[in-house]
Amino acid sequence: MKPDTASLLLAWYDQNRRVLPWRALPGQTPDPYGVWLSEIMLQQTVVATVIPYYQRFLAAYPTVHDLAQAPLNEVLQLWAGLGYYARARNLHACAQKVSKIGFFPSDVNELLELPGIGAYTSRAIASIAFNQPFVPIDGNVERLIARLRGIEDPLPASRALLHQEASKLNNSAIAQERPSDFAQALFDLGATICTPRNPSCLLCPCQTNCEAFKAGNAKDLPKRSPKPQRPTRYGVVFRVINPNGDILLRTRPPQGLLGGTDELPGTPWREKPWTEKEALEFAPITKNWQKLGEIKHIFTHFILILTVYEMTSNLYDIRDIKCFDSSFKPPKASALSSAMKKCIILAQG
Ligand code: SF4
Repeated sequence: MKPDTASLLLAWYDQNRRVLPWRALPGQTPDPYGVWLSEIMLQQTVVATVIPYYQRFLAAYPTVHDLAQAPLNEVLQLWAGLGYYARARNLHACAQKVSKIGFFPSDVNELLELPGIGAYTSRAIASIAFNQPFVPIDGNVERLIARLRGIEDPLPASRALLHQEASKLNNSAIAQERPSDFAQALFDLGATICTPRNPSCLLCPCQTNCEAFKAGNAKDLPKRSPKPQRPTRYGVVFRVINPNGDILLRTRPPQGLLGGTDELPGTPWREKPWTEKEALEFAPITKNWQKLGEIKHIFTHFILILTVYEMTSNLYDIRDIKCFDSSFKPPKASALSSAMKKCIILAQG
């Protein structure tokens, strides 16, 4: 009888597991704080990008209690560049709740009640940190399951089927015995061998049990239904710098897209481009503007084109500034999103 997929996978993992700063080494007990922090950072973000952020966070806030006590603005500043700022706000709110409880709950349903923790993350924490037999299913695991089982139905409609198949794999006795390792073995195989474009099937421990390998269509799976085209939105931003090099910035409302981050003052974002006359109505000072160019930033649901204006002269009177929700901040003390950083770099170029 050939070994089941979970046994093959775990035998491979024992020899090939990735060493990651948030991951317990064999024989060590995982730290739920580190597991949670890394899982929140890894949502929509690759491991290589997350590592330096994770290390900076851990240095600044060694425990969940330290993070809970930090001012939100400081947390957003440290998060700046990782994107999806709602995650940082939820991270802070979650730390406060956990700190109040005194510890991370190990129960999936209790984890689900914490800010920013959804179905995937609750399962990831329960399995990785608390060795409970749940299988967290992200895009990597969906791809791996689609290939192992040869599922040709396109995502997202095939998601329920993929989850069912993942549960079957997780029912194996060895997976139930080693839930933390099994979850991380799935991640590691998906990230290093069963990669999206060029899976290394010849190096794969699960090759003999893989339907896609047998059919020769691994690269084509999982299939996806065509995505609707992203709409484009347009905005105009204005850069004013004071003699100290501080930038005139305002803070976005705490809720919603890029909530709580700093931005250059400007127009709202809308579906049609702004004329110069319309845009200048939103300028923080009435005159002396020069158009510098445009930046493009891609969000999950739309593309943003921002036109950047800069003052032609630094000779302005502070009393001319009619932007009461803004103030001058040094760039280093600001929580700038990637889109705003692009505007500032363009403006400085
Ligand atoms: S054999 Fe290839 S397609 Fe199948 S799981 Fe391994 S790497 Fe993925």
